[in-house]
Amino acid sequence: MQTIIIRFTICLVYYILGAYATTDILRLLKGSTLSINNPDCYCPICNNKIKLKDQLPIFAYIKNHGACHYCKSKIPFGDLFLEIFLFLLMTLITILLHFNWWAYFVCFIAYEVTKLLFLFIYGPRETEFAKNLLRSLGNNMVLFTLLAVLFLLAQLA
Ligand SMILES: [Zn+2]
Repeated sequence: MQTIIIRFTICLVYYILGAYATTDILRLLKGSTLSINNPDCYCPICNNKIKLKDQLPIFAYIKNHGACHYCKSKIPFGDLFLEIFLFLLMTLITILLHFNWWAYFVCFIAYEVTKLLFLFIYGPRETEFAKNLLRSLGNNMVLFTLLAVLFLLAQLA
C-alpha cells in the first residue's frame, strides 16, 4: 500500500512538472519577456492574469475549450502538447525502469533535453536569456531534489 502511494505521488509530481514546464520552458523562448520567477501566468494576447483554477494542467485546457477565459483567444496547442508529452514521457520512463534511480536520472535528462529542443526549434528569448536560463536551472534542481526524496522513499518502501 505504502509503495503504491509513493509511486502515485511521483506520477503526480510529473503531472505538476509537465504544467510547470509550460512556464519554465516557454518563458525562455523567443518573444517572451516575463521572468522565469514571476509566479503569475498571463494570457499573451489580453494580458489578463490566469486564475489558478484555469492553470490546472490538461483539465483546464479542456474546460475552457483551449481558449483564454477572458478574450477567448486560442491557447497554442503546443502548450498542451508540452504538458502531456513530459507527463507521459517521465511516467513511462519511471514505470519501465521500476521507479529506481536510473528512472530518476533519465527523467531529469529528458526534461532538460526537451528544454534544449524547444530552444533549438523556437530560438532563445531576446532579453535576459542567460539570467533566466540560470534561474530555470536553479529551479529545476530544487524541484528534482524534492523528487529525489520521493525516489528515496520508493527505494525504502
Ligand atoms: Zn486572453
